[in-house]
Amino acid sequence: MYADFHTHRPKADALVSAREKPGQGLWSLEFHPWHLPASFQMPGEAFFHDLRRADALGEIGLDRLRGPDIAVQIRFLKTLLAAAGEAGKPVVIHAVRCDAELDAALRDFSGNVLIHGFRGSERRLLEHLAFGRFVSIAPGAWKKYAGLLAARGLSGIGLESDDTGEDIAAICLRAERETGISGWAELCRENFLRFIGKAGEK
Ligand SMILES: [Zn+2]
Repeated sequence: MYADFHTHRPKADALVSAREKPGQGLWSLEFHPWHLPASFQMPGEAFFHDLRRADALGEIGLDRLRGPDIAVQIRFLKTLLAAAGEAGKPVVIHAVRCDAELDAALRDFSGNVLIHGFRGSERRLLEHLAFGRFVSIAPGAWKKYAGLLAARGLSGIGLESDDTGEDIAAICLRAERETGISGWAELCRENFLRFIGKAGEK
């Protein structure tokens, strides 16, 4: 009953971010802002072919501290969001210090959005949720939102192991212990299936 919203290591019950289809888990086609070229170039036919086979697109996004000039990142992001919209795929977003630019880029995207590795302010968490985005909280950061989440519940919230290698079951238990909120594993699983568009399955 576990679901890992974001990892780079192939495993079952996880959305695995990778350039190629992983041996296990659901596939999110990675197009990381850190690894973009210095100037914009249209993704090739191979990308569009892979996107049709993938379960999601990402991580994609914006990073003020790493990768090419932010204007180049924005151009890539808009192109990738348009492709995901056309293919009907949800997206996994990496975002560092670019709230306004991200909100602007997402304005025309109507598919499901996951903000991964979230460790921002309570105010920003509420903004993401108000936009209908899913938010996967970085391990440990949940302590900051314990009061808020106890009051509003865990709808739209997820957990992830990213590249830590920690087991998602252990992460769920840690979140439960450190927030005093029960049911993380089940509720995150429900949110995961909704995000990925398989809410009818178990
Ligand atoms: Zn990652």
